Amino acid sequence: MNILTFDIEEWFIEKEFDGNRGEKYAEFDAYLNKILLLLDEQSIKATFFCVGKMATDFPEVVKKIAAKGHEIGCHSNVHTWLNKMSSTGVHEDTHKAVDSLEQLIGKKVLSYRAPAFSIGENNKWTFEILAECGIERDASIFPATRDFGGFSSFGHKEPVMISYNGIYIKEFPICTAHVLGKEIAYSGGGYFRFFPLWFVKKEMRRSSYSMCYFHIGDLLPETNSIMSRKEYEDYFKENGSLINRYKRYFKSNFGKKNAWKKLEKLIHTYDFTNLEIVDKSLDWTNCPQIIL
Ligand SMILES: [Zn+2]
Repeated sequence: MNILTFDIEEWFIEKEFDGNRGEKYAEFDAYLNKILLLLDEQSIKATFFCVGKMATDFPEVVKKIAAKGHEIGCHSNVHTWLNKMSSTGVHEDTHKAVDSLEQLIGKKVLSYRAPAFSIGENNKWTFEILAECGIERDASIFPATRDFGGFSSFGHKEPVMISYNGIYIKEFPICTAHVLGKEIAYSGGGYFRFFPLWFVKKEMRRSSYSMCYFHIGDLLPETNSIMSRKEYEDYFKENGSLINRYKRYFKSNFGKKNAWKKLEKLIHTYDFTNLEIVDKSLDWTNCPQIIL
């Protein structure tokens, strides 16, 4: 089973942090149209995790995706990483986001992905809040070491039923490959841009479960400039040292030139589906159940 997901946040980030430039919105719109056309051609329904503020500030973007029959999931309200928020903050953020998205699309929102996969050992209480907000499926777990976020002790890279404090959530983690003694993601974001396509395909063939994830920003050909210390600290809410800013610069730019072509080839090669469809077809009694 190959699951295709997109995180939809660029318009909101541009408005809040990057100068509200009309040409950038036009570029995001154009790439979204290309994605929707490509998925239509291949009869693929994906999951689009949208930031809640997209529903209030850019409703036409979310509506356009929903109108094509794709699943709309939640990607927080204002894209603040959950591991930088209190439980009250996470509750408020999730509640607002789910509410805005549901009001716009007139349908329950049941799938969730945290910004930057920011659910880990220290904030696993987040699952209780997600369940309270009506979320049934989560795709926030990055089961490997990561510079920012990650849940390396999670121990599963296939769908599992999580039980936490009396609630249940169906988890669809990011899949990882074993490279030079390390578990490394390969099927989305900067990792997809970094690895050659043959490697991604080889790993996908090897596994019965793949979780692919993309952002519009991964697919735009031009490179971003390095952030100023203030921009970095306002956005990431952490130390904007030169090394941190260079790491981010490298990660956000590597392989951008060929990214769209690679995605096109990948989508022409494999069948993909979304979380809503997979959830119905999976026999959950045969999936691992874990207590966090
Ligand atoms: Zn995001």
